[in-house]
Parts: sequence; C-alpha cells; structure tokens
Amino acid sequence: MNKPNIVILGAGYGGMMTTVNLQKKLGANQANITLVNENNYHYISTSLHETAAGTLHHDRTRVTIKDVIKSNVNFIEDTVVSIHPDKKTVTLKNQELTYDVLVVALGFEMATFGIPGLEENAFAITDTDSSRLIREQIEYNFAMYHNEKEKTEGRLNFIVGGAGFTGIEFVGELANRIPELCKEYDVSPSEVRIVSVEGAPTVMPGFDEALIEYATNSLEARGVEIITGAMLKEVKPDGIVFERDGELEEIKSLTTVWAAGVKANSIVEQSGFETNRGKVQVREDMRAPDYDDVFVVGDCALIMNNETERPYPPTAQIAVQAAEVVAANVKAHIENNAMHGFEPNLMGTVASLGHNDAIGSILNDRKIFGWKATVMKKVIDNRYYFKLGGIPLLLKKGKFNIFY
Ligand SMILES: Cc1cc2nc3c(=O)[nH]c(=O)nc-3n(C[C@H](O)[C@H](O)[C@H](O)COP(=O)(O)OP(=O)(O)OC[C@H]3O[C@@H](n4cnc5c(N)ncnc54)[C@H](O)[C@@H]3O)c2cc1C
Repeated sequence: MNKPNIVILGAGYGGMMTTVNLQKKLGANQANITLVNENNYHYISTSLHETAAGTLHHDRTRVTIKDVIKSNVNFIEDTVVSIHPDKKTVTLKNQELTYDVLVVALGFEMATFGIPGLEENAFAITDTDSSRLIREQIEYNFAMYHNEKEKTEGRLNFIVGGAGFTGIEFVGELANRIPELCKEYDVSPSEVRIVSVEGAPTVMPGFDEALIEYATNSLEARGVEIITGAMLKEVKPDGIVFERDGELEEIKSLTTVWAAGVKANSIVEQSGFETNRGKVQVREDMRAPDYDDVFVVGDCALIMNNETERPYPPTAQIAVQAAEVVAANVKAHIENNAMHGFEPNLMGTVASLGHNDAIGSILNDRKIFGWKATVMKKVIDNRYYFKLGGIPLLLKKGKFNIFY
C-alpha cells in the first residue's frame, strides 16, 4: 500500500485515543491520517452530567481537538452522513472521502424504546449541546418561578428517567446544584422535587447490594425521591406517566431527563454493516466481520465476553483500551504484519453521587464509598487527560480539587 489514507470517524474516547496513538506510531511519510468530527472539540462524555446539572462549566468538559493532535493529522470538522464500505468512501455533509483503512468511532445516541413522547418531550445527556440545554432549562424554570402570577404545576419538579449509572450520577449532581439555585432565586427547597424513576426494583441494577444501599441513602438524605419498579409509559410536555404495581401514576414536570438507555450511532446500521443490537460485532482484532479494512471502536462496537457469553457494557474504559489495540492493528494492517486480539482488562467502576460522594468497585471487587471513591473518580478522569494530552492537558483540564 502506497501512503495509505487512514480515516477515523468520531473524536470521542475511541476516536481520539486511536488518533493520538496512531500519530505517535506513524510518521508523516507513512500514511495520511484524517480525523472527522462534527465539532472542533472532544467532549468528555463521562463528565456531561456535571455540565447538565450546571456544576461544571462546559469548557471544563471538552478539549479543543487541535490542542491534542499533531501536524501529521488532518482534522476535518464535518458531519458524517453515511459510510459505503463496498466503495471505501464516506459521505460527509460537505464532501466525500475515500479511505484505505477506516476506523468507525461514532459513539452513542439516545435509545427511546418506542416510549410515546420521549423523543419530543424529554431531554437527554448525549453531548455538550444537549447538556448545556438541560442546564439552561433547569435555571430558566427557577428564574420563571417568581415571574408568573399563576404558578405552573410541576415547574420545579425535575424528573430523571432511569437510575442506572448515568441517571444516578446526574441526580447526585442535581442534589448538589438545587440548594445553590434555591438560594440564588429565593426559592424554598420545599418547593422543589428531584424524582428518580427506575423500572428495576433498585437503583443501579446489577451493582453490588451494599453499593446500592449506600447510593440510595446518600441521595435520599439530600432530598432525592427514588421511585423503583416504575415503567415509564409516556412523556408529555408537562409531565410523565408511569406504571407501578399495575396502576398508572402521573407526575407533573416541565423537565424530564432521559438517562435510561443508549444505543450505537444509527449510521452504523444504516451503512450496511452486519449488526447485532445495532452494533458491529467485531472480530478479536476489532475489525468488522466482512471488511478487512474497517475497524470499529467504542460504543459502536459489540465485544463479546467469552466467559459470560454476554457483550461487555459500552464504557469509556473499554473504548480507551480498545483504541490502543486498534491503533497498533491499523499500523500492522498497512505494514502487512500480524494483528493482536483485544481483551478488555476491567479495572472496576466508580460512579459519582455528586461532587463529594461516590461509590465504586475496583480491583478484584473491592468496594469503596464516600471520599475515597470521590478521589478515585477524579484520579480516573485525570489519568485520561494525561493519556490523551500528557502533562499540559492534565494541568489545563485536570480535577485537582480532590476533597471538594
Ligand atoms: C453522563 C455519562 C456518564 C458516563 N460515565 C461513564 C464512566 O464513569 N465510566 C465509563 O467508562 N463510561 C461512562 N459513560 C459511557 C461513556 O461515555 C461511553 O461509553 C463513551 O463515551 C463511548 O466512547 P465512543 O468513543 O464510542 O463515543 P463518544 O465518546 O460518544 O464519541 C463519539 C464522537 O463522535 C462524534 N459524532 C457522532 N456522530 C457524528 C457524525 N454523524 N459526524 C461526525 N461526528 C460525529 C461525536 O460528536 C463524538 O465526538 C458515561 C456516559 C454518559 C453519557
């Protein structure tokens, strides 16, 4: 192959780490590397709940792409419309690209499960723009509260659909933010409700029981109402309807945030790749089944856990690890060398419950709670900044307020 064109679609965890690793591995005369992303920044999706709650400014949860990539990478700010793996082309909104090797890293989008009104009336924490919108929506309703003669029912009710990882992290941040907003807008905290609605019998289904109990107590102590065993039936502009114990119940609200499901970017399925649950079930070397020149990484890839015979969950942790193998395999592919298989090395999970509380299970299922878990969460975030942009990026974006 004569100076091949390597095209990477998406600058999330998977795409950025593939690019950064490739730019170190390949010299400018070995390949043309092109990274395509719809924005000129990489957002840190694991911190978007903080942007959405208004506890962390959005500039602290995104990184300008050109600050991290080197001159041997050509960055195109554009939107991917479709991929044509048989023709080895990608259609962007403003141009067409041809590739010799493609890395698909287009991430996730909201899954609505056909719930009526969800798409039209609920907010979702999917990217910087959607998170800023939620922040503004919350603040707008506080600002409106004393500006309307007839109070709109539920104006200060904030509902979060889904008490899994994302839902619980967001609710925890909200529980910290609401008292600040109450002070700022002269609202009594008794006028405000934060309601977490979950279909499973507990919050954080699948987590260890002791961690679930800790999370429930921590959130309830800060005023969060947790409703479990409740299936969302409809989202209206002014509230939600859910079913619990065979009965339909309604809560009025102008702000419902859906945090109960993500799926792979639908471009993947629409582009004719063989998919399983909307994702490309990659081979061990992270290539798509029918295309030797297409790698898939991050939430668009389905990686089977051979021990449990279930797919690994979509996480940033796995996207980052897989990106290292993808970069090495892209290099091996263009040099006709043998590729490596990818096996996730799960280091544990830590979920924040606000800025000063968290729960986690790390290294051989050791459980951690409270400040220790909070510190661990920040260490994980800082480690990522270091991997991505070394000490300069760590110093610029890192979280050093360890005990706050
Ligand atoms: C609030 C929240 C908290 C989370 N917390 C954790 C956590 O603590 N730990 C953990 O491991 N995981 C966590 N996750 C999951 C994690 O964020 C995802 O698994 C991870 O972001 C997937 O990485 P990715 O590279 O596949 O995609 P993303 O990070 O989603 O990146 C996709 C990129 O593609 C771009 N893009 C999308 N469509 C187009 C298009 N058509 N054209 C051009 N560009 C496009 C996007 O702008 C984005 O830059 C969390 C997720 C959320 C939402």
